[in-house]
Amino acid sequence: MPRDSDILIVGGGLVGASLACALGRSGLRIALVEAQPFAVDRQPNYDDRSIALAQGSQRIFAGMGLWDALADRVSPIHTIHVSDRGHFGFTRLHREEEGVSALGYVVSARVLGNALIERLNQLPDVVRLAPARLLDFHADAAAIEARLEVDGQPRTHRTALLVAADGVNSSVRTQLQIGTEQRDYGQTAIIANVTPERPHRNVAYERFTDTGPMALLPLRDNHCALVWTVLSDQADEIMALDEAAFLARLQERFGYRVGRFVKAGTRHAYPLQLLRAEQSVATRLALIGNAVHTLHPIAGQGFNLGLRDVAALADVVIDAQRAGDDIGHSHMLKRYADWRESDHGRVVSFTDGMVRLFSNSYPPLAWARNTGMLALDLCPPAKRWFGRLTMGRAGRLPRLARGLEL
Ligand SMILES: Cc1cc2nc3c(=O)[nH]c(=O)nc-3n(C[C@H](O)[C@H](O)[C@H](O)COP(=O)(O)OP(=O)(O)OC[C@H]3O[C@@H](n4cnc5c(N)ncnc54)[C@H](O)[C@@H]3O)c2cc1C
Repeated sequence: MPRDSDILIVGGGLVGASLACALGRSGLRIALVEAQPFAVDRQPNYDDRSIALAQGSQRIFAGMGLWDALADRVSPIHTIHVSDRGHFGFTRLHREEEGVSALGYVVSARVLGNALIERLNQLPDVVRLAPARLLDFHADAAAIEARLEVDGQPRTHRTALLVAADGVNSSVRTQLQIGTEQRDYGQTAIIANVTPERPHRNVAYERFTDTGPMALLPLRDNHCALVWTVLSDQADEIMALDEAAFLARLQERFGYRVGRFVKAGTRHAYPLQLLRAEQSVATRLALIGNAVHTLHPIAGQGFNLGLRDVAALADVVIDAQRAGDDIGHSHMLKRYADWRESDHGRVVSFTDGMVRLFSNSYPPLAWARNTGMLALDLCPPAKRWFGRLTMGRAGRLPRLARGLEL
């Protein structure tokens, strides 16, 4: 039976849309199914949150030919400063030491989503089905048959490869009964754009406090993106504070490294959890992004890790296509799964380990972690390792992550 597409991507969030853009000029027929309309003001995942793009992600977007559309709309990170509130330890990472023009870039999910939509508009081989939902699917040796609901109407769709980019509550993962490691952190991230009195000098601050970590990322025009993690039972109270009381509370928690905070924009709250799926592939199917790993935003790694899934999957799909092989074959999928295994493990352990380590106020542990931070600051090899991890350059890199075209 004929197929309706070569690849059916379920979920047009930042990760699924990035995969459609990466493969959009490969000659493969792509269908992108998304439950929300593809309009930046109507897609809740293209919202006001700021995403710290690692330097490796900048390369991936450059390899996809998307960086030119983003370069004027991002803010570079020159220094990362990590500290523990009320303790002596700190560590810093400077772009000069890493030999790069920026350690990363800050961009809002809205701007990124807009750039992805603009690119999708130029890709005739990508058919967008939205608002549409995947209902269920069935895989056999030759294809996957998916049941969709498009504009309220049922439709069947045959494809060679289904990619699940359908987020933390992935219905694909649930239908396959893939097990997960899952934990509710009992923390909520409150985000807002804030304006400090002093210039931020393109420093990204990561500050650990006894109620949760906070990040302050440099934005254009001397604004900063705040990601403030609080205990979930305090979130409603902090969200309800008026601007002056909110700024005073923030000041008390963050301190005066950028002077006084003088203004805060609209706040949004995100409950936080950890999720790691036990498998990232099944018959004719691959999982990417939050569907396979959902992280605490403590180190700004979630989207970066998802974009590396995109780059690796695009690599193996294109290799299979060039070799004339079946792009949904289990050998191809195994290559993808094996490749991503160590990066997923490394980043999940790093992120979750940081949350656990810095949530504990037991004095000997606080002393040890602060000594560790200072040692990291003073030890070049350890710092290089930290730098590679933070910039998304650890492990074997796919072509796009080396800034090369597919
Ligand atoms: C406060 C906060 C700050 C963050 N900061 C950073 C950062 O600095 N750096 C970083 O790298 N990451 C960061 N992240 C993480 C990042 O936002 C996520 O990892 C990323 O957005 C996940 O994208 P996704 O496309 O995988 O999933 P989602 O954004 O969840 O997209 C999934 C999509 O699938 C669609 N969908 C679901 N089910 C179906 C279905 N059955 N049929 C059709 N469509 C379906 C949904 O409508 C949705 O659009 C942050 C997260 C938070 C909460």
